[in-house]
Amino acid sequence: MTETVLALEGVSRVYGEEVQVRALDEVTLDIRAGEFLSIVGPSGSGKSTLLGLLGVLDLPTSGIVRVQGTDATQLSDAERSRLRGEAIGFVFQQFHLIPHLTATGNVEAALLYRGLSARERRGRALAALEQVGLGARHDHRPVQMSGGEQQRVAIARAIATEPGVILADEPTGALDSHNAENVLQVFGDLQSPERAVCIVTHDLHVADAARRKISMLDGKIVADEVLASA
Ligand code: ADP
Ligand code: MG
Repeated sequence: MTETVLALEGVSRVYGEEVQVRALDEVTLDIRAGEFLSIVGPSGSGKSTLLGLLGVLDLPTSGIVRVQGTDATQLSDAERSRLRGEAIGFVFQQFHLIPHLTATGNVEAALLYRGLSARERRGRALAALEQVGLGARHDHRPVQMSGGEQQRVAIARAIATEPGVILADEPTGALDSHNAENVLQVFGDLQSPERAVCIVTHDLHVADAARRKISMLDGKIVADEVLASA
């Protein structure tokens, strides 16, 4: 049995007080080590809400969220932040790079406060940039790079901490098709027995690159398929 990295057990998320939106409705889901999965569904179906809960950026209204077996809903904010930082890497549609830092500086920033020396941080940042094919661009700033390259820096930043799972919300959403293809390729290469990759997307081409496809509608999982072709 492969290890479960992230799990939702009967999770609901209701937004608002007077006017309530049930963004997620009793969702149960396991993400196992080494999986490459996509989450698809129309706008408003709850994909980002689901990802935010999987990544413990947000807490459920009811239900349990487990990170490497630990019930994250029972932790203090500080404990939850620490667990998140150790276990999970995030990639967003907008790359969220720091403009005045080089690619290396941006990746190193994710490695602060982890008891690493400056030399170790730099070594790990350069290795992560090599992995996404940007070794030669390590001293470039975001403004000197294409959108696809900036997203690859963001991916390097997410993997530099060696998380067990990468969560990405519409990572190709801001890219043209050529850059999107390139970034998708990088995600495919990232997947390993030690690292699960989970991509939220409304792009079916991106979704079909994954090995497992989860479809959402109105806050529920309506399909969970293994794709033979991927
Ligand atoms: P998706 O990512 O699939 O587009 P979301 O998870 O962003 O869907 O949203 C699911 C539902 O929850 C939508 O109806 C959306 O309007 C609502 N929603 C999302 N975030 C909030 C929020 N912070 N406050 C109130 N409603 C929200
Ligand atoms: Mg969304």
